[in-house]
Amino acid sequence: MKLFAPLALLPGGWDENVLVTVDARGDIESVDTGVAGAGADLHLDVLLPGVANLHSHAFQRAMSGLTEVSGPGQDSFWTWRQLMYRFVERLEPDDIEAIAAQLYLEMLRHGYTGVAEFHYLHRDTHGRYYADREELSLRCIAAAREVGIAITHLPVLYAHGGFGGSAPGDAQRRFLNDPDTLLSMVSTLADRFAGDADVRIGAAAHSLRAVTPQELTRLRDGLHELDAGAPLHVHIAEQSREVEDCIAWSGARPVQWLLDNQPVDAHWCLIHATHVTGEELRAMAASGAVVGLCPTTEANLGDGIFPAGEYQRQGGVFGIGSDSHVSTSPVEELRWLEYGQRLLYRQRNLLAGGAHRSTGSTLYTAALNGGAQALARSSGAIAAGRRADLVALDTGHAALAGRRNEQLVDAWLFAGNDSPVSDVFVGGRRVVEGGRHAAGDTVGQRYQAILQRLLKDL
Ligand SMILES: [Zn+2]
Repeated sequence: MKLFAPLALLPGGWDENVLVTVDARGDIESVDTGVAGAGADLHLDVLLPGVANLHSHAFQRAMSGLTEVSGPGQDSFWTWRQLMYRFVERLEPDDIEAIAAQLYLEMLRHGYTGVAEFHYLHRDTHGRYYADREELSLRCIAAAREVGIAITHLPVLYAHGGFGGSAPGDAQRRFLNDPDTLLSMVSTLADRFAGDADVRIGAAAHSLRAVTPQELTRLRDGLHELDAGAPLHVHIAEQSREVEDCIAWSGARPVQWLLDNQPVDAHWCLIHATHVTGEELRAMAASGAVVGLCPTTEANLGDGIFPAGEYQRQGGVFGIGSDSHVSTSPVEELRWLEYGQRLLYRQRNLLAGGAHRSTGSTLYTAALNGGAQALARSSGAIAAGRRADLVALDTGHAALAGRRNEQLVDAWLFAGNDSPVSDVFVGGRRVVEGGRHAAGDTVGQRYQAILQRLLKDL
């Protein structure tokens, strides 16, 4: 298939009259510039690489907006978690698949082309394994395949209720696993999807609260014996209480502890890392790991603000995730990443990365690179050999009127709420066409029916 666009964002910058040839496997075969579009199968206005969403808990999409009523005392992440635990009690495999399909479809429509699913729901409502231990992983992957988003699925090791290997609570019974069982699930899933270029299997440790040092080492070694390139994700330093608890347990802050005790490198993705010192920040940047920033969730939960400007100056790698899915658009994550800094420092264009640079383009490019690295996927650039994960913008959209080159990305990210995304391709497959997804009605109706039942008397 040949795609033509008068304007496209290539690794070297914006280029004109670009013809992208995609091979039968869904990889980009060649990119030609300054050519006529006569032989193309499809003409688009503006073509960009699609960004990966590096952090998702799919089921939480169905809870979004339900935790915005104040409680009797001070509300925090921890009060939010109580509702999340109640909601989890109700979820059956069909529910999880239906919610994930609706979520992933929304992500595609907003321009995400891949997702890393940080999947910690393994057991049934009684806390028993399903007949097929990978049942709920398979449901998430089925949802991704149904709507056509690329998925890096990360079965999560969750073994304890707090630091120091403390016993988990009853509300956590659906999450529990031990390293060897989790690794056998990873292995089964990796074998099963070995031939699918749009499904990748990695793993995650839920947090330093939920795994002991020995379990984390076993997970890391086991994962990289199975697949040396597999990504390993972990929630870290999201809450200030978590930092205090970690210091009480080990004498070190969470990021400091991790960097001192694990060979953190480019295979790792540290989710949130909100509360870090300057020293931790420099060491994280030097490690090559991706920091997974989820600005809308971090704002919604009142987590705090990551020192993104300093991290960027250190050359740190980062990407974006929607985590609890209070937003399903990369626009809002990147916008709030910058706005958080502006509100904090009362200045503008803080993440532009230097003088006379476009904030939107700098952020978008960083999210492309960090997202691809965190998903261990060869996406994030319009270049030969990369996966054809692409997004097209409609220049007829009012927000983009008269914009050229980086102004287009700035306007997309900072000028309104209506999406100018017209078409989305994943592995060369056109999954969104003219702003619409072909399965939108079916997936949407199924989701509506399931939510009516799930939210009754919650
Ligand atoms: Zn998370």
